[in-house]
Amino acid sequence: MRVLGKDKHFFAFGPNLKPAYAVAPGEEVVIETMDCFSDQLTSEDQLITSIDFSRVNPATGPAYVEGAEPGDALKVSIKKIELQRLGIIVTVPGLGVLGKIVREAKTRTCEIGEEGVDFKGIKIPYSKMVGVIGVAARKETPCGTPGRHGGNLDTKVITEGATLYLPVFFEGGLFGLGDLHAVMGDGEVCVAACEARGQVTVEFGVVKDASPAWPFVELGDHYYILVSGDDLDHAFREAVFYGVKALQESNSLAWKDAYMLASMIMDVQVSQLVNPRKTVRVRLSKKYVSLEGIIKALKSELPEELRGE
Ligand code: CA
Ligand code: ZN
Repeated sequence: MRVLGKDKHFFAFGPNLKPAYAVAPGEEVVIETMDCFSDQLTSEDQLITSIDFSRVNPATGPAYVEGAEPGDALKVSIKKIELQRLGIIVTVPGLGVLGKIVREAKTRTCEIGEEGVDFKGIKIPYSKMVGVIGVAARKETPCGTPGRHGGNLDTKVITEGATLYLPVFFEGGLFGLGDLHAVMGDGEVCVAACEARGQVTVEFGVVKDASPAWPFVELGDHYYILVSGDDLDHAFREAVFYGVKALQESNSLAWKDAYMLASMIMDVQVSQLVNPRKTVRVRLSKKYVSLEGIIKALKSELPEELRGE
């Protein structure tokens, strides 16, 4: 299988990205990744304050996906995530949900073994995932910030077996990924997870004219719509709006009935609370929504009344 090496990487999703690799739809490729610190931390003696901060959150790529044009959806199927043994987690004063009471930077290593992660003797089962994943955005956006283009989504369901749909803004999409985690809880409360180096096997596809307003994921029996915003209330509102819309489109319901159905069967969840924009998601069972319904819903515009404050 072809390997896209981590020597080609970038730190911002934006309109000036130039392709480093070209990939055809249907071709499986292995993408090597550095960890979110660009592999600068290797022991507990090194603090985050000692690293080059302009090099955090690298994404390997960009990969030009043949046939992906503005207005399409880029389909990314995650086949396999393989991690190296060294995991790193840090605290940083001022960062994370409780940043106000974090007095000092700390680095801990965790061992990523056969059975799972070992953190200070506590055994944690894996939930391997990809933190940073996206395409070139219309506006220059650091890889540490999530948005409509993807980016630092830090979402647990972006894992083996998942398929992520992203909007395409530029020819070829200009895709990149990085920031693998061996395990992370919803919220990623201390600002980092078990950060790991590794490689991801992916296959790309293109869905013509299906550019979604926000990224969405298919995993197992569910779809997830991922919305990021400066303000959590707003992000939740927008995610709920598109979830209700997906139920309406999938079942030919009146809007008010879809709203009531959502209240009964749709789960609102948190992806992460610690990045420059927060990411939330709604979870919908395939029993109630179809791929066509979600694509149609994510083409609609957010009503004026729900925008901003
Ligand atoms: Ca991250
Ligand atoms: Zn990370």
